[in-house]
Amino acid sequence: MGKKPVLAIVAALIGISAIAVGVYRWQGSKGAELCQVCGRDIPKQTAFRMETTHGTIMACCPRCAMHHIVHHPGLVRQAWATDLDSGHMIPAESAYYDEGGDIQYCTVHKSPVERTPMGIQMRTYDRCLPTLVAFTTQNEAEAYREKHGGRVLTYDEALEDVRQQQ
Ligand SMILES: [Zn+2]
Repeated sequence: MGKKPVLAIVAALIGISAIAVGVYRWQGSKGAELCQVCGRDIPKQTAFRMETTHGTIMACCPRCAMHHIVHHPGLVRQAWATDLDSGHMIPAESAYYDEGGDIQYCTVHKSPVERTPMGIQMRTYDRCLPTLVAFTTQNEAEAYREKHGGRVLTYDEALEDVRQQQ
């Protein structure tokens, strides 16, 4: 066997890799569905919208968004969370949150380390964890907590908790 078949295989492998990278970039550049804070996909049930002095920012979950709010005081004028039960956007400040429930929405499909340069650290610290999900009423939040654990917080309590996590 000469060297040519080996070269052909190497060339084919390089070609396949190039296509894979291209597809990955293309998926990553679809834009609207990616969290503008952490770059992950935005799950419909936990999407969070922030109206800021520089336009709208979409985040994958309330916790990720609250990191942004805590780090940029005064930037966010209005915030909207998604009610987990109805899927509707609700004012974040009057919503109730379950923190630390057993379902992970942002990180469930892919390893939390995939898209970050400091991936190994993300195993122990992930900005989307503990999970934070929003509800219109305290009763709905309590009902979720009974099934999935965690604890129920108001918006201010959840923000304070994110601040403590820094
Ligand atoms: Zn995010």
